[in-house]
Amino acid sequence: MGPLVRRRSSLAHAKCMFHNDLELDHRPTAKDKLVGRMADSYRDLLTSLGEDVNRDGLLKTPERAAKALLYFTKGYDQTIQEVLNEAVFNEEHDEMVIVKEIEMFSMCEHHLVPFMGKVSVAYLPRGLVLGLSKVARIVEIYSRRLQVQERLTKQIAHALIEAINPSGVAVTIEATHMCMVMRGVQKINAKTVTSCMLGVFRDDPKTREEYLALMR
Ligand SMILES: [Zn+2]
Repeated sequence: MGPLVRRRSSLAHAKCMFHNDLELDHRPTAKDKLVGRMADSYRDLLTSLGEDVNRDGLLKTPERAAKALLYFTKGYDQTIQEVLNEAVFNEEHDEMVIVKEIEMFSMCEHHLVPFMGKVSVAYLPRGLVLGLSKVARIVEIYSRRLQVQERLTKQIAHALIEAINPSGVAVTIEATHMCMVMRGVQKINAKTVTSCMLGVFRDDPKTREEYLALMR
């Protein structure tokens, strides 16, 4: 009898938990409400295009588009401090550190279409170094927002200065802008290159040359 009772009670318990989960799912969170409001806006946009938002293919598009846009701009919810937590190390390394060709996806704030490309980051440490994967995380935080390439380049450079106070930082971004490829001049192969040099990379021609040589 013992085992049977136990099994019953655990079943009842499981059922109860399942029930609670369902109830939780039905309670709209702040994010659900946000997605709902954004989906309403997408429905208006689609209607303005002359589309029928009730046709099969578009039924769930407003919600999907809202969630996609939130993903493309998730950098707004993240701070550099969270990322750097426990990833700054004391190290007497005083040679240039370069992280090359970090993949980057961002959104042009003028046309709300993507621009994407590669980011290279170099710094000359002064007692502190950064976990290597964290450089890519810094790129992610600033690129996953509405951006212009020039500002993105500067923000990454200044974040490194703030994090580890190096002797200098260089950031180079090479990107393709969908607003150039798909509209206007339609320059499919045009790449935009921006760079930001701070500290010794700006003041010392030798350091700058070393960086440019390593980038080639
Ligand atoms: Zn644009």
